[in-house]
Amino acid sequence: GRPVLTIRGLNVDYGTGPGAVHALRDIDLTLHRGEVLGLAGESGSGKSTLAYAVTRLLSPPGVITGGDVHYHPPQGDAAPVDLLTLTPQELRAFRWQELSIVFQGAMNSLNPVHTVHSQLTDVLKAHRPEMRQAERTGRAEELLNLVGISRDRLGAFPHQLSGGMRQRVMIAMALALEPEIVIMDEPTTALDVVMQRQILRKLVALREELGFSVVFITHDISLLIEFSDRIAIMYGGRIVEEAGAAEIYRDPRHPYSDGLLHSFPALHGPRRELTGIPGSPPHLTAMPTGCAFHPRCGKAFDPCAGHVPVLTAPDDAPERTVACWLHHSAPGDAADPAPVSV
Ligand code: SF4
Ligand code: MG
Repeated sequence: GRPVLTIRGLNVDYGTGPGAVHALRDIDLTLHRGEVLGLAGESGSGKSTLAYAVTRLLSPPGVITGGDVHYHPPQGDAAPVDLLTLTPQELRAFRWQELSIVFQGAMNSLNPVHTVHSQLTDVLKAHRPEMRQAERTGRAEELLNLVGISRDRLGAFPHQLSGGMRQRVMIAMALALEPEIVIMDEPTTALDVVMQRQILRKLVALREELGFSVVFITHDISLLIEFSDRIAIMYGGRIVEEAGAAEIYRDPRHPYSDGLLHSFPALHGPRRELTGIPGSPPHLTAMPTGCAFHPRCGKAFDPCAGHVPVLTAPDDAPERTVACWLHHSAPGDAADPAPVSV
C-alpha cells in the first residue's frame, strides 16, 4: 500500500546543552495505508516518546532535534503535510481529523461527571459545528455501535461502565471524525488478557471496515504477533528490528527480539513471569556504548561495545531490517569490509 505516515531520521532529546540525553535516535519508520503496525519494546525504550513526538504532543524537556515526519493525505495528488511545521491551530484540527491517539491509561481519562453521550458529542461539536444536535446524537449512537456497545449506554457515566467498555468508548471517540491514522499507546495494559484480545480484535475488524491505519504500541509482543501486519522493535531509543509479524515470530534476527518473544506466553497460554531477557533496560542517562543491548546480550562479540549497528536489510532478506552486528559486516573486518554507502 501507499505510505500514510513517514518518519525519517527522527531525533528527540530530553533537555538541552551538555545535560541533554538522547531519547530517540535515527528513527526511520513508514506506516502504510490500511496497515496495523506494532511497536514493541520494554518500558523506557522510547515507544511512547515516539508517539508523542510524531503527534507534536511532546512536552518539555522533550525536544525534537532533527528529522522529518510527513503525513500523506489519501488524495493521491495532495502534497505531503510536514507535521513538524504545523501551527498549533493546524495541529488541533489535524489531531482529530487525520490522526487520533489513544493514550496509555486513556480509559481513566474520560470525564467522570459527563455522560458518554456528552463526551462523544463534544468532539463532534468542536470539529463539526455545522452538525445539528440530533445528528450528533445519531453519530454518537453509531460510534458506540461500531465498538460493540449498546445505544442505551449513551446516558451512562464512566463509573457505570466496565474498564473494557470505557476503553471502547475511548476508541469510539478516536474514530469520531474518521481519521486516517489511529495510534494506540498501551491501550489495554490495565485490562485482563481476554479483554485486551477482544478489544484488539474489534479494532482490527474496524480497520478493515473503515480503512484507517493503526500504530499499536505495547510491551506485550504476543498481542502484536497476533494482530499486526508488521512489527518494529525498539530498544534504548532506537528501532533495532522491523519485519512482518510472521517473520518476527518465526525468525527473529535481533537477539533482543528473540528475548522478547521468550518473555511472553504463547497466544493462548497463561501469563508467566518475564524470564526471557536477563538484566533490565538501560536508563537514558547511562546508555551503553555501541549496541545499547550489549550488556544483556548473550551473543555480544568484538564490535558490539564499540560500534553502533545501523538498521539495514540483511543480505538474504531485503524486506526486513535489523540493527545487529551478527547480520552485518563488522567494522575493521578486512576480509569482509563494511559497505561504505548506506
Ligand atoms: Fe548482541 Fe552485538 Fe547484536 Fe547487539 S550487535 S544485539 S550486542 S550481537
Ligand atoms: Mg510507554
